[in-house]
Amino acid sequence: MAQLDVQQKLAILADAAKYDASCSSSGTSKRNSRDGKGIGSTDGGMGICHAYAPDGRCISLLKILLTNSCIFDCHFCINRKSSNVRRARFTAPEVVNLTLAFYRRNYIEGLFLSSGIIGSSNYTMEQIVEVARSLREDHHFRGYIHLKTIPDADPELVHQAGLYADRVSINVELPTASGLKRLAPEKSEGRIETAMKEMKTAIIDTADAKKRYKSAPRFAPAGQSTQMIVGADAATDGDIVTKASGLYDRFGLHRVYYSAFSPIPDASAILPLKRPPLMREHRLYQSDWLMRFYDYTPADVVAATDQATGMLPLDIDPKLAWALKFRGSFPVDVNRSPREMLLRVPGLGVKAVSNILAARRWRRLSLADVGRLTQSIAKVRPFLIADDWRPLALSDRADLRPVIAPKKEQLELFA
Ligand code: SF4
Repeated sequence: MAQLDVQQKLAILADAAKYDASCSSSGTSKRNSRDGKGIGSTDGGMGICHAYAPDGRCISLLKILLTNSCIFDCHFCINRKSSNVRRARFTAPEVVNLTLAFYRRNYIEGLFLSSGIIGSSNYTMEQIVEVARSLREDHHFRGYIHLKTIPDADPELVHQAGLYADRVSINVELPTASGLKRLAPEKSEGRIETAMKEMKTAIIDTADAKKRYKSAPRFAPAGQSTQMIVGADAATDGDIVTKASGLYDRFGLHRVYYSAFSPIPDASAILPLKRPPLMREHRLYQSDWLMRFYDYTPADVVAATDQATGMLPLDIDPKLAWALKFRGSFPVDVNRSPREMLLRVPGLGVKAVSNILAARRWRRLSLADVGRLTQSIAKVRPFLIADDWRPLALSDRADLRPVIAPKKEQLELFA
């Protein structure tokens, strides 16, 4: 490997990290250094990589790899052993110094650190842990730290990562075991899931201990997350949603991230030539949202997919797709129906439903009242009964979909 200075390494290793989608920082505990001790905080500031939390909060992270060299050869990965890319490697002190320097310049609020595997899984994990240890113990860094952990590494090392990090993640990589076997043959679904299970147990045990003893150590207070690549194998949206739901249930994941596969230079011949539409990734995030906040089951989301292809429609969101398929569940009476049915109405969000439930305790609501709580009353009308509104035949129209689907817009050439 040619001798590179830190700036050159940064250019290579920040670029290599851009393929990782799972750097949202939601849910961490608040820490700061206002007491004059330590450095950093988990709130405020501006930075390099912007990650958005589900609550809309935006935080900035230094998002880098420790190295883009790797002894594995996962077909979809630009950093795989056989890839013809320029390689670089930071030492642990270099990452520590960069993080502190970027923090002091107010560029970042935290660090997202991942890595290719160098030497062995244990050696790589030791280096990752050493970065976090040094930041926390030598420099009293109180900013956010998200560490990617390596499932094959010694469980004790993975555990140490959780003691220093706010969030840890272990990538499942692909939605199906067969896809993983084909595209990442050196990885094992069993080892990945075992590591996730151990992480879940440690997170729960520490949270319990923290309730009883203030002095109990922190352990990944922002939980664990994972990432799935979409469109690199034959998995359908139904497969992906079912897998994600299982991961939430079994391992208590904070988030599952979906990353649309993007063709890479010198790509392996077994990969598709084209990337999936970015809208597919967006629809999967919407489905994920429906399961986490709108009480949809995975089976509900699967029911919204096209029966022949198993894919969610790209032109309408999954909630509207479900409502159009199950018209018998509508219209829903805004003045009488329970929360779970109001949440099924396309165009009504969680906040709008809460406002409706609060307002209807005092008076009956008209369509105009509902209109003030939603962005698109046209989308709501076929599915709702209000004090002065009944959709009558509108709900049953055979051509309802084109009537309420968002209009396709011609992009402006010079916008
Ligand atoms: S182990 Fe990670 S870095 Fe290495 S080739 Fe596979 S996905 Fe890429």
